[in-house]
Amino acid sequence: MKTDNRKVALVGAGLVGMSYAYAMLNQNICDELVLIDIDRQRAEGEAMDLNHGLAFSGSNMKIYAGDYADCAGADIVALCAGVAQKPGESRIALLQRNAEVFRSIVEPVRDSGFQGVFLVATNPVDIMTRITQLLSGFESSRVLGTGTALDTARLRYLLGQYFSVDPRNVHAYVIGEHGDSEFVPWSQALIATKPILTIFEQGGSRYRREDMEQISTEVRDAAQKIISAKKATYYGIGMAMARISRAILGDEHSVLTVSSLLQGEYGLREVCLGAPCVVGREGVKAAVTLSLTPPEVSQLYHSADLLLEALRDIQL
Ligand code: NAD
Repeated sequence: MKTDNRKVALVGAGLVGMSYAYAMLNQNICDELVLIDIDRQRAEGEAMDLNHGLAFSGSNMKIYAGDYADCAGADIVALCAGVAQKPGESRIALLQRNAEVFRSIVEPVRDSGFQGVFLVATNPVDIMTRITQLLSGFESSRVLGTGTALDTARLRYLLGQYFSVDPRNVHAYVIGEHGDSEFVPWSQALIATKPILTIFEQGGSRYRREDMEQISTEVRDAAQKIISAKKATYYGIGMAMARISRAILGDEHSVLTVSSLLQGEYGLREVCLGAPCVVGREGVKAAVTLSLTPPEVSQLYHSADLLLEALRDIQL
């Protein structure tokens, strides 16, 4: 019997996973939510806690702690599991350990018969997305990462404040690695239909081109600033994941800056990075290739080189 039950399984019921779950519940985005964690007791406690809030929500969601067999029939499996960096541990050693964590997750998910879309949030998200593609053997369009979705939301918020316009009328993207080499292609940034660069060229206003550099730095450093203040970031990414999940479950064809495998776009291949894509029921439907200027293309290549180099060092 075919039903329209929207089922999501999340692996990693930590801060990010549970912020996602909380956003999914409050926005009523799915009908069934399975929480999976190596710490089963934690997943059970989180499921109980959310269930006790059901009576106050507008949702009738079925929420329970489960295991990998429960991924069968899920529309989305969201990966938020990860291990933290040990003192003195190199980035590559951490990556290698997270690759092992992903092997212990992705293979049983695949073996459950799961045929939906993988949504990856674990950092470094672009590399973990590529690893998930390789480990699962899924068509690359069905494995996407949160990429620069949250960075793009931060950018739109700051530009909205700067220009005193609703962030939903700001059309600008952060692209590349979700990390230090990410950047804003300003040639592609619009307020409604007006290019931001044109606003500066016209002059005579209180807006200054130099302020844009400060805004992109603020976006890039936002995570570190939050981590310094409260040790981790999780609400924003949880809401970004919920937004992407809604686009998938509703087959919305929304343009979101997710991390996906480039297949010749911008002359790049074999690397996942954040760039605008059309997202729907089958995952990434298509890339929206931006008309970047030559310096912007160089910046994207720099970001891709860093990611490819990190991937080369990992043994799968
Ligand atoms: P956390 O430590 O709170 O949660 C991680 C969870 O993963 C824990 O519950 C742990 O038990 C579980 N886990 C570990 N190994 C597992 C395994 N082998 N199988 C199943 N579960 C396992 O961490 P967090 O703050 O929730 O962060 C999770 C990940 O999300 C990190 O990699 C973090 O860097 C990343 N993150 C990404 C973004 C983004 O923009 N993509 C933003 C914030 C955090």
